[in-house]
Amino acid sequence: MNETNKAEWVEKLPLLQKIIEKKEVLWQNPLNADSATGIARSGITAADVKDASDRLKRFASYIAKVFPETAAANGIIESPITAIPKMKEALAATYETVIPGKLLLKQDNALPISGSIKARGGIYEVLKHAETLALEHGLIKQDDDYVKFADPEFRNLFATHKIAVGSTGNLGLSIGIMSAKLGFNVTVHMSADAKQWKKNLLREKGVTVVEYADDYSKAVEEGRRQAEADPLCHFVDDENSLDLFLGYAVAGERVAAQIKESGLHVDENNPLFVYLPCGVGGGPGGVAFGLKLQFGDNVHCFFAEPTHSPCMTIGMMTGLHDEVSVADFGLDNQTAADGLAVGTPSAFVGKKMDTLLEGCYTIADETMFKLLTMLVDTEEIRLEPSALAGMTGPIQVIRNEVPKSDSASVTHLVWATGGSMVPETEMDMYYGRGRIGRK
Ligand SMILES: *Cc1c(COP(=O)(O)O)cnc(C)c1O
Repeated sequence: MNETNKAEWVEKLPLLQKIIEKKEVLWQNPLNADSATGIARSGITAADVKDASDRLKRFASYIAKVFPETAAANGIIESPITAIPKMKEALAATYETVIPGKLLLKQDNALPISGSIKARGGIYEVLKHAETLALEHGLIKQDDDYVKFADPEFRNLFATHKIAVGSTGNLGLSIGIMSAKLGFNVTVHMSADAKQWKKNLLREKGVTVVEYADDYSKAVEEGRRQAEADPLCHFVDDENSLDLFLGYAVAGERVAAQIKESGLHVDENNPLFVYLPCGVGGGPGGVAFGLKLQFGDNVHCFFAEPTHSPCMTIGMMTGLHDEVSVADFGLDNQTAADGLAVGTPSAFVGKKMDTLLEGCYTIADETMFKLLTMLVDTEEIRLEPSALAGMTGPIQVIRNEVPKSDSASVTHLVWATGGSMVPETEMDMYYGRGRIGRK
C-alpha cells in the first residue's frame, strides 16, 4: 500500500489514525447484523460443529488413557469458568469505571495437554487426521472404542506419515504434543519470536523444530511449501483451516452447558459479552462462531489485539482482510504477547465473521503486563501476557457506550487463552514487569 492509499483510508476511517499512533481503541463493526443470517452466510452449520464435538467424544477414551491428567474429566479437554470479583473491583478502581454485572474468566490457561486455547483446534485437527488415516487403512470403525489408537499398529501407520505446522509457539505445542503422542513424524516451523522453552519442550517430546529468523507469516509459508512437496505430509494451515475452526467452535456448547450449570442465564435481558485475544483469528473466530450458534443475538463477541499487531482490526475495518498488513500502516508487529504477533489476518476467518463480530479493540503490551500482575495479586491466577488482552474488554465497551454493555444483568466473559505451561522463572519476570510503574 502506498502513502496515497494509506491517506485515503485514514480519511475514510478516521479511527485508523489512532491505530497508527498505537492508541488503545475500540472499533464497532458497522456490518454486525443478526446472527441467523450471519451463520447462514458462513456456510458452516450447527451440524458441522456437532460432527466435531462427536469426534472429540469418540476420542475421549484414548485421550484419557494417554494423557492421564484428563482422566478425571473422562478425556474431554475443557477448562473451568471462574468468577473474578476481586479483579473486577481492582479494574473498576484503576480505570475509574463502574462495571455492572458479572466478570467471569474462561480459563483456557488451564486446558490440559498444552495449556492454551490451541488445545481446542490444534488437537482436534490432529485427531481428525489420525481418524481419517485409520479409517482408510481399515484399522478402526467409528463405533469402535478409540482407546485402540494407543495400539502399536496405529503408531506404526502414523510413523509413516508427517504433520507440519507454522507457529509462533502455542499452536506448535498443541500440534507437536498431540502428533508425537499418536506416533506421527511431526515438524514445527517456528518464527523468530517463539520462546526458547517452547522449542526445548517440543524437542524433548521428539518433535522436529525448524527455526526461522523471520516472523510468523514466513514460518507458515515455509512450512506450507515444504509440506506441499510431500503427499504423506498433512499441513495444519492456521490461516485457512476449517478443521481448526470447528475444533475451536465446540467451545460454544461447552460454555452453554457451564453457564446453565452455574445458574446463570443468557437471553435478551441478560446479555453475554465475550472478549477474545486474537492473532491470526482462528481461535477467537471459531469460539465466537460456536457461541453465536448457542446464544445467537444475545452474545456479543469482541476480538482483542496488541496495539502493535492489530491485523484483524485493520483487515475487517477496511474489508481488505489478508490483502492488508499492519506494516501497511507503519506498525512494527512487535509485541510480547505470544500468539498475537501476527501482521496479516486470516481472510477465511475475517469473512466468516464479517457480520457476526460486534467489534475489535486494541491493548498496549504494558497494559497486559499491568493486568497480569493485578490478576495474580487479586485472584492468584497466572496467565501469559496475551491472555490478558481480553481483560480491558469490559472497560472498552462501557466507555464507548456499546449498547447493553452496562446493563445491570450483563455477564462479561474474558477468555484467558493461555498460561499454565509458562515456566515459573518466566512468569516471575512477567509479574515483575507488570509491577513497575504501578500506583
Ligand atoms: C494463538 C493464541 C491466541 C489467538 O489465536 P489465533 O487463532 O491465532 O487468533 C490467543 N492467545 C494465545 C495465548 C494464543 O496462543
